[in-house]
Amino acid sequence: ATAVMWFRRDLRLADNPALLDAVAAGDGSVVGLFVLDPLLWDQSGGPRREHLAGSLRSLSESLGGRLVVRRGDPVEVVRALAAEVDAVSVHISADYGPYGRRRDAAVEKALRCPLVSTGSPYAVAPGRVLTQQGSSYRVFTPYFHAWLEHGWRQPVDAPPDIEWVDAKGDRLPSSKVVAGEGAARDQWEAYLDEVAEYGEVRDRPDLDATSRMSVPLKYGEIHPRTMLADLARRRSAGAEGYRRELAWREFCADLLAGHPDAAWKPLRPEFDKMEYDEPGDAFDAWCRGMTGYPIVDAGMRELASTGFMHNRVRMVVASFLVKDLHVHWKFGARWFMQNLVDGDLASNSLNWQWVAGCGADASPYFRVFNPSTQAKKFDPDGEYQRRWIPELGTPDYPEPIVDHAEARLEALRRYDAIR
Ligand code: FAD
Repeated sequence: ATAVMWFRRDLRLADNPALLDAVAAGDGSVVGLFVLDPLLWDQSGGPRREHLAGSLRSLSESLGGRLVVRRGDPVEVVRALAAEVDAVSVHISADYGPYGRRRDAAVEKALRCPLVSTGSPYAVAPGRVLTQQGSSYRVFTPYFHAWLEHGWRQPVDAPPDIEWVDAKGDRLPSSKVVAGEGAARDQWEAYLDEVAEYGEVRDRPDLDATSRMSVPLKYGEIHPRTMLADLARRRSAGAEGYRRELAWREFCADLLAGHPDAAWKPLRPEFDKMEYDEPGDAFDAWCRGMTGYPIVDAGMRELASTGFMHNRVRMVVASFLVKDLHVHWKFGARWFMQNLVDGDLASNSLNWQWVAGCGADASPYFRVFNPSTQAKKFDPDGEYQRRWIPELGTPDYPEPIVDHAEARLEALRRYDAIR
């Protein structure tokens, strides 16, 4: 017998329950498949593609070069490969996003063998923790307590002795990025030595002191269970604060699973009536990092050139787009999804909704970030801003495209109209 292991957001061998099931079903004989879905790949920016390609190269190396990568519609590709190798079953770990769920239902229908789903990219799968009324949580703190109480199991090792079965594949896209399971493990272990200070440094983009684990988490090069088990062995306020952030990631996934429309529509229905401007020249200036507000421009340029942006700066640029430029958050969210290497529909949309004031447990709309105050507080020496804007302080740097004080009043006026 041969089973197919269809890797998606679980590009690793350790602590991969779906892989354990594939090995059991195939009696050790498994085909490892990754589908390059043009719908996702063609929309991704350069840094995002490079990371995924680097991660696939590393996964393929751990499979003795036998990862089968095929480009095409997943329904067609998975059906065809399963038929070619006469698979007893196809194994996946669950995807809770709206597109992933539709795709998996279509694949299941097209297959002649079972599609078996085991595990998820979360310590506690979406929908598992419920209020006493049986509904999902809309406020983070009670969710967090229920999540802790629910708990998770200990990580398991990679299965030994897998016979990876070869099949014809397309060429792997090239990449210079070092990524994958081993790199993720090294990055995490190095970061663990610093986690105790997490609370003091996490808001400072100039210090570059956060873990950057959002990227390996996005591709499942490491499972959050593994990280939570390591954190539990370190008793520090930093480790606890870090665990809370991992819970935010799971809260976002839980919300999106319960409200698939929240990907692009406000969770608070009154925001449907909010007046926004069309994303014209001001939106272009925002994307290119040319707004004349250095903290905003530094963040947007960091994003364009590296595919990453610090969390504090994500909040500042998002608030600026929505409340200073009056552009709907969905345009910013789409730009982020195309460019962020860690771009994740649940974390991205729900955080945008939080900033835009229309989310479940959102920051109140009337609290408008002042970009200059934020910059003084979180980049006190201006180092982060100078790093990304070499022409800062010269005539080449643009004048502010809006007046923040006026833009703030306009944002409040529009908010008053929907209250
Ligand atoms: P650390 O500070 O080291 O945090 C550790 C981990 O906790 C992160 O890797 C992440 O998995 C999780 N985490 C931390 N903060 C959050 C949060 N607010 N929400 C959910 N999870 C969190 N994160 C993504 O992974 N993908 C996205 O597409 C994404 N889009 C965002 C859009 C906006 C507008 C905002 C404000 C935040 C967004 N975030 C997103 C959350 C957060 O900014 C990133 O997870 C974090 O900056 C990643 O850097 P890090 O790994 O160094 O974070």
